Amino acid sequence: MNHEQPGFDTLAVRAGTDRTAFGEHSEALFLTSSFVFSSAGQAAARFAGEEPGYVYSRYTNPTVTAFEQRLAALENAECCVATASGMAAILACVMGLMKAGERMVASRSLFGATTQLFNNFLARFGIETEYVALTDVAAWETAASVPGTRLLFVETPSNPLTEIADIAALSAIARRTGTLLIVDNCFCSPALQRPLALGADIVIHSATKYLDGQGRVLGGAVLGKRDLVFDPLTAFLRNAGPTLSPFNAWVILKGLETLKLRMEAQSRSALALAGWLERHPRVRRVHYPGLASHPQHDLALRQQSLGGAILSFEVDGGRIAAWRVVDACKVISITANLGDTKSTITHPASTTHGRVAAAARQAAGIGEGLLRIAVGLEDVSDLVGDLERGLGQ
Ligand SMILES: *Cc1c(COP(=O)(O)O)cnc(C)c1O
Repeated sequence: MNHEQPGFDTLAVRAGTDRTAFGEHSEALFLTSSFVFSSAGQAAARFAGEEPGYVYSRYTNPTVTAFEQRLAALENAECCVATASGMAAILACVMGLMKAGERMVASRSLFGATTQLFNNFLARFGIETEYVALTDVAAWETAASVPGTRLLFVETPSNPLTEIADIAALSAIARRTGTLLIVDNCFCSPALQRPLALGADIVIHSATKYLDGQGRVLGGAVLGKRDLVFDPLTAFLRNAGPTLSPFNAWVILKGLETLKLRMEAQSRSALALAGWLERHPRVRRVHYPGLASHPQHDLALRQQSLGGAILSFEVDGGRIAAWRVVDACKVISITANLGDTKSTITHPASTTHGRVAAAARQAAGIGEGLLRIAVGLEDVSDLVGDLERGLGQ
């Protein structure tokens, strides 16, 4: 046992705690937009960065700092920079680390807004993105070798098919090609997967999902080596403004305390539900990394400690049958969000992936019979009851 470095569970409840003179036990919430100085000289020194201390909450705020320190401890990262949302975290990486004329390589299966950001906005400012199949390591290598490539961007497991990217293999490609690997660790969180330990350069989070874990607030974060993320990203965030609000930071900070408990319980339920679905005669296929039938089950077990809380499955009978399952749900919420203690169900082809052309959607494996469930903390028997009603016996 290493007594120098506290364990994950201890860090989750204690890292980043910086008590005020009042001696409060629970973390304080600093709802203040600015901070006062004792003199004109101190104001000048703070603005010049010659004296440490708070100035204005677009720059830094003690509650936001506490959240950053705790998440950095959990990802075992040198530095964490908080952002207003997961999308702001992705934008901050691009704005802080890239310039016009450079290119990015990204996996084809990405969160919808990430694809929209890359294709509809970054492309306008001269940053092109090449998409490759998530699991095709050779294709990543070829694309990353094209001169001008700066960032490799991947989500693993992917949404909604839970494909697994080989983080260690992609990290090796990033090193060989002089590019930086960014992993969106939203689906696993540091409770199940630590991409920096596998060689990734940067981890980004939508803290809106499992880090808060209770569906309350939006937030995001970027983690990595200090020289890589701190200066370039804070320079952008402080001047552009998508910083995390202290209130949201406080909510997510408290969410981190139960992160591992929730992730483990939700993963256990997801595995049970996936097993039940796999045996159901009306279900053609179940996508869940924790199942032995998942094509990358071994890789998943190597780089994540559990399968995670998200699964998808294909029902016989296309959209009509899939919508019947959704509409029969009394416990599971019909919403496209994920990462909540409340289970959610969505029909990707008509919601999250509804804007993708039907042919491209089919090619990506997102058929009309596909449903995605983000498993929460309810009794599995109640979730089974919901699905049984919609699927039929
Ligand atoms: C939700 C999500 C995002 C975007 O996060 P927001 O907090 O909604 O901005 C990015 N990546 C993944 C994988 C997500 O699920």
